[in-house]
Amino acid sequence: MRIILLGAPGAGKGTIAKMLVEKYGIVQISTGDILRQAVKEGTETGKKASEYMNAGKLVPDEIIMGIIEERIEKPDCAKGFIFDGFPRTIPQAEALEKLLAAKDMTIDAIVNLEVPEDVVLKRLTSRRTCSNPDCQAIYNIYTMPPEKEGICDKCGSKLVQRDDETEEAIKVRLATYYEKTQPLIDYYKSNKTYFAVSSLIAQETFDEIVKRLGK
Ligand code: ADP
Ligand code: ZN
Repeated sequence: MRIILLGAPGAGKGTIAKMLVEKYGIVQISTGDILRQAVKEGTETGKKASEYMNAGKLVPDEIIMGIIEERIEKPDCAKGFIFDGFPRTIPQAEALEKLLAAKDMTIDAIVNLEVPEDVVLKRLTSRRTCSNPDCQAIYNIYTMPPEKEGICDKCGSKLVQRDDETEEAIKVRLATYYEKTQPLIDYYKSNKTYFAVSSLIAQETFDEIVKRLGK
């Protein structure tokens, strides 16, 4: 099973991706997570990417495609994968098409998570992420609080607000989304595997996606 998850920042891609990973035994490929890891490790990719990321801007397409090409080669991708936060631009979508064709791979579903803009804003400012790079569990201080304030339920590490989740960076991220990523929806709309679901309550969104996938 291979899935592309689309949606604005804060649409719930990470949360839904993790639920689909469990259900289908596939891996989550989050370019955001991979980039944050690279920044933390201080790799060449991380050094190049960090200034774009902290400003809430998109990392150049070449860097992203390098990451994806390398990632889908790994053996854990054999059962399938779910792209979360990729593709983000039309050139990335075009490059992905070529890459998959060369590997004789197809995408089973392109899922667009739909959320009203005011909900997105509230979610982004209330999000807390586990600081443990191996965990990265996501919480929401209103809708999905941890049992103990500021502490991850899963691993006990401290919860933090990401650097790109300041009010200012969030505004840039949303503007970038509308300019660069929203056009992808038109690009994919005519594809027979494309569908949109409302993403207000995670469990309902997940159930709807599973129903649509029919497996
Ligand atoms: P979001 O919550 O905005 O979806 P992500 O964790 O997916 O955040 O990404 C964080 C940052 O990493 C983005 O703001 C961007 O700078 C960079 N990034 C992640 N994925 C991509 C991509 N496919 N193309 C370009 N930049 C990306
Ligand atoms: Zn944790």
